[in-house]
Amino acid sequence: MKIAVFPGSFDPITLGHVDIVQRALPLFDQIIIAVGSNATKKYMFEKEQRINWIAETFKKEEKVVVDSYQGLTIEYCERKNAQFILRGLRNPSDFEFEKAIAQTNRKLKKDLETIFLLTASGLSSISSSIVRDVMRNNGDYTQFVPSAVRI
Ligand code: ADP
Repeated sequence: MKIAVFPGSFDPITLGHVDIVQRALPLFDQIIIAVGSNATKKYMFEKEQRINWIAETFKKEEKVVVDSYQGLTIEYCERKNAQFILRGLRNPSDFEFEKAIAQTNRKLKKDLETIFLLTASGLSSISSSIVRDVMRNNGDYTQFVPSAVRI
């Protein structure tokens, strides 16, 4: 069974995240969307809220599981018997950042492969941080997020 963990903050989930998951579905038997909790990060939305939005978005997709975790992503993958980490790439700065993380993870656990999917054109400018800004300022955020996400 090919299991991938898609780790992230999902604060909130956006159409960019949804696109990465949908395109990864044919590649894996199961995708665990794992909401990470980083003690040093401040989130706009509670973990339960972020999880609920993801679960609602993928409720009809049997291959998708939603979970949360703390600590190292590689240890979480080990617990879940996942052989792959799934990440999305939008631009050169994502690439540099992701490269360093993936290479470090691979040193820590050499049989864990990180699989990158390029963002779909048109979705590369969507980020959770910009969506949060639009939300805070009462702009129309609905075009950037799945319909489950409403505040
Ligand atoms: P993190 O805090 O781990 O960066 P995010 O929720 O911001 O968590 O992102 C999780 C993953 O989704 C990352 O691999 C990120 O590059 C990817 N991602 C975010 N937005 C998009 C997008 N618009 N298109 C493709 N991938 C994206």
